[in-house]
Amino acid sequence: MITTKKKRNTLQKTKILEYLHSVHTHPTAEVVYENIKKKIPMISLGTVYRILNALADDNEIIKLEVNGEFRYDANNCGHIHLICTKCGIISDREMNKKLDLNFSDFSVHCFSLIIKGTCKKCSRRVK
Ligand SMILES: [Zn+2]
Ligand SMILES: [Zn+2]
Repeated sequence: MITTKKKRNTLQKTKILEYLHSVHTHPTAEVVYENIKKKIPMISLGTVYRILNALADDNEIIKLEVNGEFRYDANNCGHIHLICTKCGIISDREMNKKLDLNFSDFSVHCFSLIIKGTCKKCSRRVK
């Protein structure tokens, strides 16, 4: 009984991870749910939330808070998120230079940076 449940959870988890890896849109849990439902019709929104949060706790994905909404990203290592605080759009930027992250008391495996600001579209709108 326990084994069956575990197997099913693993399948759901795998499908969610696959989906997150296939997009760069930093979807919300609702968007993930809409897409996963096509593959696993039995899945509930609550399950999707639970799996996403568990993955974020395990550092397999990143959970970003934008304007009070949670967005998820499978690309969890070594990139910068530029977040527009006006429209909530998130874009990824690769690091073109290696950051000097050598701390004597800490070895860095991974990092993700969040930079908040205003996107081109929104700053044009203000003027
Ligand atoms: Zn914007
Ligand atoms: Zn990202």
